[in-house]
Amino acid sequence: MSDITAIETVLGDDSLHGITKRQQIFELLCAKPQRGAGVAAEYLAETEDEAGADYVAQYLALIPGAHAEKTRAAERLRQAGVLARAAAWLVPWLPDELLDGFVSDYLAETKPSASPASSVVYSIGLFQPDRLRPYADRLEPHMRRALLSGAPDELVDAFLRVWQETHDLSRLEALALIRTDHARERLLAARDTVDEPADWEELMELAGTLPDSGRPSGFRPAHMAFIVDKGEGPHVVGGPFQGDVPVCLECEEPAERVLDLAAASLPFGLKNDASFFWYACECEATDSTTVRITPDGGTHVYFGPAAPASDTGSLVPGGERALVIEEHPNQVGISDEAMAGNSQHQVGGLPQWITVDRHPRCPECGTYMPFLASIGGDLTPFGELGFEGCLYGFWCDDCCVSSTKYQS
Ligand SMILES: [Zn+2]
Ligand SMILES: [Zn+2]
Repeated sequence: MSDITAIETVLGDDSLHGITKRQQIFELLCAKPQRGAGVAAEYLAETEDEAGADYVAQYLALIPGAHAEKTRAAERLRQAGVLARAAAWLVPWLPDELLDGFVSDYLAETKPSASPASSVVYSIGLFQPDRLRPYADRLEPHMRRALLSGAPDELVDAFLRVWQETHDLSRLEALALIRTDHARERLLAARDTVDEPADWEELMELAGTLPDSGRPSGFRPAHMAFIVDKGEGPHVVGGPFQGDVPVCLECEEPAERVLDLAAASLPFGLKNDASFFWYACECEATDSTTVRITPDGGTHVYFGPAAPASDTGSLVPGGERALVIEEHPNQVGISDEAMAGNSQHQVGGLPQWITVDRHPRCPECGTYMPFLASIGGDLTPFGELGFEGCLYGFWCDDCCVSSTKYQS
């Protein structure tokens, strides 16, 4: 049976739920050479199946690189009626002319919201807001928040005027999400106009500056990150860990090390490798873990009980995997909120919160910690992660302390 026929057979099996079909297609593609990119592009070049196109494009978005295959697939999807929607997954890798093509398809519709290109255009707003900005007044309202990222200084000043007149804090939040030097300067100067110091501090972190130290609240450049097989990248995802870890306050199950970032393989000038920890149980007894990596390679756990890590991990499918990174198309930072279970991982840049939240303080030096990485739950090419929301990792490199915050 050809690879394409095998995918079609899974899709045609009425006894399977959509989620099971997707999982089986992922397994099938993952076992192919080049992580299945070629087979996926071949399938997308000819399919008429809307669900199939969506699953396979979603799979392609979980693997790094493969620009040629992703572009070939998107070019064909653009010509395939409602199937064009699936190209939204591929936007970070597509060439400018093709992205502009989707935008003109969308704008040419008498009712753009009904256009299959609508979801592609929304995604272009997230990853390349500058491309979409000239057409801002012709876009659907839900697309406009994405365009805050890197918006011109006049918009910063306009938000500030409305804030001064109305004291509507959402205007200052919009200003913070613009994340340019001008936005940060204006927010800094507006400090005394915000009643609650904590509100102003949160906005500063969101805009890209830690409110106490004045240091950046994230590392540059920003990267998208991808879970690949063990040994295929310098950073470790899941797998065994030697040392004490936090323990769930309810079921007493030890947490697992989700991610270990190799400092020497990152362009951030970090001195120490950073490790992040989370729970495999579903008790949700706490929303964060805080751990110091000690000079002897051991750990110290803050704010709760600790126990040795268990030998078997269940957060990451198949045990130990690796992480590779690719420069993010939006270096300013995506300004729209993340959706739970969107499976996007990030290293560097600023956090794309599901709900805007504070950065934690380092328990050693007492200063606010910069964001370093996030792991979005749900899907990997190898199966599902053991959590659904998103883990946000903060790191104090001077003290070797990590804080991992969970949102769903
Ligand atoms: Zn538990
Ligand atoms: Zn510290």
